[in-house]
This record gives sequence, structure tokens and C-alpha cells, in this order.
Amino acid sequence: MRLRLRTVACAAGLAFASSFLVAAPASANTPPTAPTVLSPENFGYRSLNNVTLTAAGSRDAEGQNVSLQFTVGFFGAATVWTSPWIAAFGLAGNAASVVVPASSVRAGQVYIWSVRARDSLGAVGPPAARAIDIFSNYQPGASGFRYDEAIFLGGFGPRETVNSGLTQVSSATLKSVLADLPSPGTVNCTALPSGLQSQMASVPTGRGTVTLLAPLAQGMRVVMHEIQVKEPALYDVLVASGGLCYRNSKNASGMKPGTVSPHSWGTALDIKLTSQSGYEFYPSKGLGWVTWGLVRTYFYLHEAGWIWGFGFSGDNQDNMHFEIGLQGLNGMIWWGQIHHA
Ligand SMILES: [Zn+2]
Repeated sequence: MRLRLRTVACAAGLAFASSFLVAAPASANTPPTAPTVLSPENFGYRSLNNVTLTAAGSRDAEGQNVSLQFTVGFFGAATVWTSPWIAAFGLAGNAASVVVPASSVRAGQVYIWSVRARDSLGAVGPPAARAIDIFSNYQPGASGFRYDEAIFLGGFGPRETVNSGLTQVSSATLKSVLADLPSPGTVNCTALPSGLQSQMASVPTGRGTVTLLAPLAQGMRVVMHEIQVKEPALYDVLVASGGLCYRNSKNASGMKPGTVSPHSWGTALDIKLTSQSGYEFYPSKGLGWVTWGLVRTYFYLHEAGWIWGFGFSGDNQDNMHFEIGLQGLNGMIWWGQIHHA
């Protein structure tokens, strides 16, 4: 299949570009800034053919012409397709588009893509900040995937791929910041010390209720409202519960001895869909699979600083599980919203 490329250009953009033909000395050259991903937007659905990737906004300090290169891959897996460098023009910010050849993508697969810029001296800048944009060549119905549909997000990669920009909080940190809880030696919920229990609050979440550390419960109320407004059909099938529970961590094999689950400090919650009889560790189809409703939920929670258990390595994959990242914890500390029990 012939690769089709096109650039987004306008007369003003070409004039702008040609006025910067004098390059700065190589020794002083700095790479261009990361472009901004324009479309498809995060988790945009696309049909099998003619997936067009568009990005713009890269700037070069020396005013050189900029080219963009697009990369398509799986979560944490090897790149499946890389575009040539495509000249980018336009006063709106060095825009370029590329059509991904249908022969390079497979039906039923969800892809991530990113883009980076190169200046005319060959200096390559960083990739777009949001490298988790997804498209699929899966042929969905008019409204996209069903929320209860299991989809394959690809091979198992580094957790930072789905949890990009967020840092996991260790239990040692939670012990030092909130309460020095010993490992309870059970996966059943155990009574908390009163000083920690008094910092908890409950909040309605979709069709459930969840108890979390109070400032997180407050934040979750905002996130749930956002889902209710932007994606009411998702809100209607969402059950966020399984928040506070002082217990050991567990994985698909059972209890992990010596651990303390982040649920113990009210900094984690588990989510399921009303159509699911139980919580989803990973679907019966195996590692790398996840129910689409949870992917959509991740979209909202990731923006709010929650780390997704889907990104946990090996058979620790935990689709239902979300826990606040270090950035969110540090925010609560900075605002004086929590204290050591
Ligand atoms: Zn959990």
C-alpha cells in the first residue's frame, strides 16, 4: 500500500517559514519543542482505514523550519509504524498530518501514538507530552465500543506508559505521612486506628459509594460529576466502591504476605461496571485485556492524578484498581489537608 502524506499548510505559513532560512551556528543550536497532539484526541475512536494523525505547535528557538515524525505503537511494546519526517508549516504552529497505512495496523487492536519535531540542522526534540493518545482500527458501532466489551491494549509494558507523569506512592511513604500501619496479615478489612479513621469521608460514585481519605473523597466527587456531565452513559454503569479497607495487598494469586494495601490509608479505590458480577482483575481473556468502561474511567482518573492498576507489571495487573499518585499526595501535604495519625 502506498503511504499517503499531506501537510497542513497555508500561504501565510509558507511565507513565515521562508523568512527563517538563515540557521544559527550548530554549536548554539537547540532542538525544537515538543509538538502538541491534536487528533485523534485521547481515546478517540477511528475506523479501520484512513486514521489521520495531526499535531502542531512545535517551536524552534532559532526559527528553523521544523519537521514532524509520527510513531504508532502498542502500550509498552515495540513501535509498529514510524512516519517519514514531514515538513510542518502554518502560523498556528507548525502543523502536519499523516495517514497511517491500513496495512500497518491490525483489526481489533488499540494503538497509542506520539510525535516529535526535528529542526533543519537535525536536532530532534522531545516527544509530545501526551503520548497516551489512542486510536483503534477496531470497527465499533456508531457509539463506539460497548462499555462491557473486553479490548486488548497490547503487550505488557512499563507501567509508566499508562501512568505517564504519575509516580506510585510506596507504603513506606504512606506509613510516614499518614499512619505507621503494620501488615494485618489478612485480605479482610480490619479496624483502623481512630486517628486515621477520623480523616476518612464517604462520597457517592456512580452507582456506588466509596470511603476515601477526605480530600480524595472531595476530589472524587468532582471527577464523578465530570463523568456524569461528559459521559452520562458511563456514569450510569459505573460502580466505584472498595475504597478504604485496612488489609494486605493481593494479586491474582491471593494475599501478598508482609504488605499493606494502599486501600488501608484510603488512598485507593476499586471500580467495576454494573454488568460485572465481581471486580475485574483482568478479563478471562488474559493479561493485556481490559473492559472498555474501565479504560474510559481511566481517562478521567488519570487526569486527576490517579494511577491505574492496569499498568502494574506481570500478573499484578489490576484493572479495577486506582490509587492516588505521589503528585496528589504531595498536594494534600502542601495544603495541610492530612496529618499523621
Ligand atoms: Zn484496589
